[in-house]
Amino acid sequence: MSVEPVKAVLIVGGGIGGLSLASALRDRGLDVDLVEIQKEWTVYGVGIIQQCNVVRAMADLGLVDRYLDAGFPFESVGMYTADGRLKAMIPGQRLAGPRYPANLGISRLALHRVLSSAVLEKGTRVRLGTTVARLDQDAAGVNVTFSDGATGRYDVVVGADGLYSKVRGLAFPEAPAPRHTGQWVWRHNFPRPAEIDHLATFSGPDGAAGLRPLAADLMYLFVTSVEPGNPRMPADQLHTLMRDRLKGFGGLIGTLRDRITDPAQVVYKPMEVLMMPAPWYRGRVVMLGDAVHATTPHLGQGAGMAIEDALVLAELLPQAAALDDLLARYMARRFERCRFIVDSSILAGEWEMARRQDVDRVGLVKRMLEVTAQPV
Ligand SMILES: Cc1cc2nc3c(=O)[nH]c(=O)nc-3n(C[C@H](O)[C@H](O)[C@H](O)COP(=O)(O)OP(=O)(O)OC[C@H]3O[C@@H](n4cnc5c(N)ncnc54)[C@H](O)[C@@H]3O)c2cc1C
Repeated sequence: MSVEPVKAVLIVGGGIGGLSLASALRDRGLDVDLVEIQKEWTVYGVGIIQQCNVVRAMADLGLVDRYLDAGFPFESVGMYTADGRLKAMIPGQRLAGPRYPANLGISRLALHRVLSSAVLEKGTRVRLGTTVARLDQDAAGVNVTFSDGATGRYDVVVGADGLYSKVRGLAFPEAPAPRHTGQWVWRHNFPRPAEIDHLATFSGPDGAAGLRPLAADLMYLFVTSVEPGNPRMPADQLHTLMRDRLKGFGGLIGTLRDRITDPAQVVYKPMEVLMMPAPWYRGRVVMLGDAVHATTPHLGQGAGMAIEDALVLAELLPQAAALDDLLARYMARRFERCRFIVDSSILAGEWEMARRQDVDRVGLVKRMLEVTAQPV
């Protein structure tokens, strides 16, 4: 394989991982094209929690100040009973340095704006409403045919196109398909009361609920559920169905439950997972984020792992070494860490589905914080 340093990169997918990578590669002077399948470049959903390791990664990407301005910084993770009694308060670590908070909650739209504005300012060529149709690689590069008939040649193509990745289908036709774990998650935004200044998770009889601060005036409420037979939920009934899933909870969650009155404000999603076996590259095509390691939200680390992937790839790709060696180093730094997050998150969901009360959920969160505090 060539020892010419990588100069031209195509990123497929302008989500959290793809944008983080584009920003970091432009900082290192590489030519970056990015294609995003959506015509309107936006994001759906509610908000996202970014824990200590992710705040550190955003600092390493040079984006932390604008990112912190767009979200809600917080220090600790609280674990509660269904009726709101505190079981444990787990302090976060300020991994980005004493000037920065341990964690951040941020709305998905605000995070998208931070990342996409950085990527455009840094001179990434972004094409919306476009994907890849063909990838033909040889020893020196990849010839790409786009969905609009245009063509291009790149040193490396990165698949950052999420759970149902097209790049994965083209380059790794034998890859496993995503799997539904059996759980669903229901979410709803609310104004943030002063007491929700940390991440709060409540263990209920049939699943977990939680409150996540996203901005000075915003938080979201979620609850997990099992829906036997995976029925399609009527869109005009999502409010009554979410209220029903929350009936085992008291305290603040119980009060908020009664304020869920508009079905259009409820976001209802299946939990789907994927752990693609190593390696996540074939020749000059490499994958990151949910396209290769999609996890459930139980430990709030899916996007964090995508951002860390981007950080590591951006550090390695410009180096003057054989591409195969660089990508092997990418795998060595990312595979076990991502597998730990996927496996531990699935385990937390299995405990909820089996209604296990004899498990150490607090210990699982502490272990996740220890593992992710390690350098990437
Ligand atoms: C309910 C829920 C809650 C979550 N909460 C958290 C949390 O609190 N913290 C956390 O860290 N993570 C959380 N996650 C996980 C997180 O959302 C994902 O891990 C993260 O979005 C992965 O980033 P990504 O860039 O790999 O993929 P995505 O963010 O999915 O981005 C993929 C991009 O590729 C585009 N695309 C798709 N197909 C194509 C194609 N063929 N061609 C071109 N573009 C394409 C998409 O439009 C999208 O813009 C949660 C997930 C769920 C489901």
